[in-house]
Amino acid sequence: MEAGEKAPAERFTGDVYLNMIEAPAEPARRAAGLVRFTPGARTNWHSHANGQVLYVTDGVDLVGTRDGSVVRISAGQTLKCPAGEEHWHGATDTNLMAHIALVVGDRAGDGTTWLEPVTDGQYADALSTVSG
Ligand code: MN
Repeated sequence: MEAGEKAPAERFTGDVYLNMIEAPAEPARRAAGLVRFTPGARTNWHSHANGQVLYVTDGVDLVGTRDGSVVRISAGQTLKCPAGEEHWHGATDTNLMAHIALVVGDRAGDGTTWLEPVTDGQYADALSTVSG
């Protein structure tokens, strides 16, 4: 498999690679991408205008929200991120992770609003939450 595009540092922490499957286009504005995260890598905080579906193809995916809750999903599992909810997703600190991300965009593009990075402290809290 090709490595894909390196995901931009202004939106991700650590090394993340993106293979677009489909870019949003009128009229459906469906978009899909395979996103691969190295250990410790994660997205910035962000939200999706029309929500998002994540299907994990490899490893363990952590999904954190502003209330401090963290959901752990494994390869073969699907998670829906509600429209407008601020969240982040990423690998654990010891595993590679890959997921297919599905969104329906808006007139501005893929409908994602990008925010600030997940701090090392927030990420450490998430790891401790899921490890018990
Ligand atoms: Mn998302």
